[in-house]
Amino acid sequence: MALETIEAQSVRSGDRPNLDDYDALCREFRWADARGLMDGLPDGGLNIAYEAVDRHVAHGNGDRLALRWIDNDEAAHDFSYGDLSDATNRFANVLAALGLQPGDRVFSLLGRTPELYIAALGALKGGHVFSPLFSAFGPEPIKARMTIGGAKLLVTTKSLYRRKVAPIRAELETLEHVLLIDGAEDLPDGTVSLADALAMASGDFDIVATDPEDMALLHFTSGTTGRPKGAIHVHEAVVAHHVTGKYALDLRPGDVFWCTADPGWVTGTSYGIISPLTNGVTMIVDQAEFNAERWYRILQDQRVTVWYTAPTAIRMLMKIGSDLPQEYDLSALRFMASVGEPLNPEAVEWGYQTFGRPFHDNWWQTETGGIMIANYPSMAVKPGSMGKPLPGIDAAIVERADGAVTELTEPGAMGELALKTGWPSMMRGYLDEEERYRKCFSDDWYLTGDLATRDADGYYWFVGRADDVIKAAGHLIGPFEVESVLMEHPAVAEAGVIGVPDPTAGEMVKAYVALKPGFAADDALNRELRGHARKRLGPAVAPKMIEFRENLPKTRSGKIMRRLLKARELGLPEGDISTLESDEK
Ligand code: AMP
Repeated sequence: MALETIEAQSVRSGDRPNLDDYDALCREFRWADARGLMDGLPDGGLNIAYEAVDRHVAHGNGDRLALRWIDNDEAAHDFSYGDLSDATNRFANVLAALGLQPGDRVFSLLGRTPELYIAALGALKGGHVFSPLFSAFGPEPIKARMTIGGAKLLVTTKSLYRRKVAPIRAELETLEHVLLIDGAEDLPDGTVSLADALAMASGDFDIVATDPEDMALLHFTSGTTGRPKGAIHVHEAVVAHHVTGKYALDLRPGDVFWCTADPGWVTGTSYGIISPLTNGVTMIVDQAEFNAERWYRILQDQRVTVWYTAPTAIRMLMKIGSDLPQEYDLSALRFMASVGEPLNPEAVEWGYQTFGRPFHDNWWQTETGGIMIANYPSMAVKPGSMGKPLPGIDAAIVERADGAVTELTEPGAMGELALKTGWPSMMRGYLDEEERYRKCFSDDWYLTGDLATRDADGYYWFVGRADDVIKAAGHLIGPFEVESVLMEHPAVAEAGVIGVPDPTAGEMVKAYVALKPGFAADDALNRELRGHARKRLGPAVAPKMIEFRENLPKTRSGKIMRRLLKARELGLPEGDISTLESDEK
């Protein structure tokens, strides 16, 4: 039978977590005090990379292990805080020598390799803006993001460059420099070997005195319509990265922390780079893709104490079963957390039965920059709930009407999840999209676009998205980006893209396509379209399934009604179809 609550982990274990009295801390917490946990730069400056790396060196902890990188062959490569300080200084010097100025945009297109971490932190030291791209993106999402972001420099590999960037390089008008991480042999035209440049650079660098409100990170996210949005985060965000890691992930000195997210997405940056380092822990980075045996081996051999992963991965582990983990010594594990998509109660309970502790779900999004709602070790877990707001975060369930927002205080009332503005890692804008940014706010509430409820005990429960964006294997996918690529194909007249439920990935991208006259809706064309989308968008974004239709349901203004496609796919009520103009029937 399903468990209604699981007793707080700290009560069961007798261990004292960082956050051991939720209500007391909520009362006492002030962001201004949290800011005092940072060293800052002289003259009031604040720089994420200083707080993450150099501060520990300044405090005499340069020898502490910062990053253990496990390569594809499972060899471990260690970087102390001192090593990272030196490498990131060199990287910052390389950028300066190339003429980059503070504020210039530095992009990466890399798998999980040490250079990604060095590039991120080195760019921040130079006052540049860092924007990571997911290495499984195809040329189209890469082009869109680098164009919107005004990328001046890209760090990538030869293979990724040749396959994905070289074909579009001429269209990337702002791009001046490409640094390749894998050796100086056979360098493609217009690229530079990063290793050579680093070897020649000095290991001393004076960190640029960034203002707390200077732009530091640009993370792209997707909406229902239009192009991807570049969410702007500033150096001040480090205050939230630090304290949320401390309270929601219970990071403590001496911890070995493994965040399985890719730094191409926001979790992999906030909690895969910044938060663990500011908290002075050792972080594990695995180069390889998911493999259950390998994962358990890493947890065991590295003596991982805090593990932050995602529902899709947990469900893949569940599928393989509870016997496999029994073969490993996972006794070092103290805290397990999950993020990015709804974590079903069965997965929480499976964790509890299998590892003796539940996965602690937490919630946030690209725009919030850090964890906003979480289950803490000192709090009973209600499987299926996202938990309670972080101290310093004021959340509510609201209803929008006529441009105003009303709070729904009745327990169980469903509405939009909203957060009171003003926490340090709140996005400061969507790059060059003032109007889209403004629409996210009403009064002093930030409106998240997620539907949720809050129960009588103050726990939040995720209901769904208020819009049409898709969450597949933890990746937020904008249907418009997928539809646009399908529309490029000469056979396609119309395309509508939705997420359909998938037992492992949460949702799967599915496209409905109406063909132009003269094209046959057969298997060969279906395969060709899927291949076209995969090549242009990359495997993480392309539709897994395509279904042909004579027509797609549209509003009178010609907008495809994805909501209706979805309702019909799932056999749900069609809702209000008064704006429906034409139909597939
Ligand atoms: P992203 O901006 O890519 O991090 O995606 C953020 C979105 O992922 C949120 O707005 C939610 O829709 C979803 N999400 C993140 N965490 C959770 C969670 N714990 N439970 C349910 N949905 C989540």
